[in-house]
Amino acid sequence: MTITDSARLTAQPHITVMVPAYNEEKNIAQTLRNICDVLQQMSSHWDIVVVDDGSHDRTAHVVQSLVASCRVTLVRFSRNFGKENAISAGFNYAKGDLVICMDADGQHASELMLTMLKRWREGYDMVYAVRQDRAQESSFKLWGSRLFYRMMSASSHIDIPRDAGDFRLMDRKVVDALCALPERNRFMKGIYAWVGYKSIGIPYIPLPRLHGESAYSKLKLIALAWTGITGFSVLPLRLASLTGAILAIIAFAYGAVVVIDTLFFHESVPGWPTVVASMMFFAGVQLLFIGVLGEYLARVYDEVKGRPPYIVAEVVQPEEAAQPAVR
Ligand code: UDP
Ligand code: MG
Repeated sequence: MTITDSARLTAQPHITVMVPAYNEEKNIAQTLRNICDVLQQMSSHWDIVVVDDGSHDRTAHVVQSLVASCRVTLVRFSRNFGKENAISAGFNYAKGDLVICMDADGQHASELMLTMLKRWREGYDMVYAVRQDRAQESSFKLWGSRLFYRMMSASSHIDIPRDAGDFRLMDRKVVDALCALPERNRFMKGIYAWVGYKSIGIPYIPLPRLHGESAYSKLKLIALAWTGITGFSVLPLRLASLTGAILAIIAFAYGAVVVIDTLFFHESVPGWPTVVASMMFFAGVQLLFIGVLGEYLARVYDEVKGRPPYIVAEVVQPEEAAQPAVR
């Protein structure tokens, strides 16, 4: 049940922090302890859900040792299904009136949850953290993210806030709306914006990773951006139609020029190189856009297969919470 706006100032909401974790054996214990410390200041009702996204290291083992002391529910996937799916599972298992999503690597300062709760009490249903340190990032990430946000805002009717990630607090009604979405190709940044509700950003500077390296290589980031673009806009398909139309007009105009030249000025038709070059160009453009069509078809294929977005191999819960956790 959601807490009404008027009750927010005094309510003691149940808070669930949800943490997706992939190969975080060195980070997860400290992250969970930090979260516990801050949660204790926030409410007397809280718990944590850790989704182990098919880690190859001892992440699940470390989390299991903290199940009782940190009120953790461990949801272990049968293999790595990716962060977006881990987050979706986390929402399904979160019982709280408020759900906060945080990374397992210590980059998200737990103290920011206090500000998030304050904003929720002021009436916001979703409070997202907006990173402020983008200027120090590699030029690939910087320019890539600029291009991505520009493309999304030009082509999609939903407004995805810049530099806001998964670190955010959500009211129960937002979480219920997220869980109700049936799509399998999940691009969470887009989905958060798509569901709407009264939202606000708060600034934060990500801390350095405690140990290890980011699981997101350049290739993975490009794949994620592509999932976002194809999931939330039909711009690539529109570009195909537009390019086709422009090329057809140019070809028609050129054809007219050739006819006029031949009929009235008796000029000889230009030679083969032009023909071959333009044929190759048009063939290239056609193949490119058939590829774009294929990408959308692949998404449709993925959806109609109806496979679940993840498989849960095991759920470990603290004893007092041994009731079914899935809502
Ligand atoms: N993560 C995950 N599944 C994956 C990759 C990452 O659950 O396939 C988790 C990871 O353990 C961390 C969060 O997602 O808690 C963010 O990942 P990472 O730190 O690698 O990414 P970045 O900070 O560069 O966005
Ligand atoms: Mg990280």
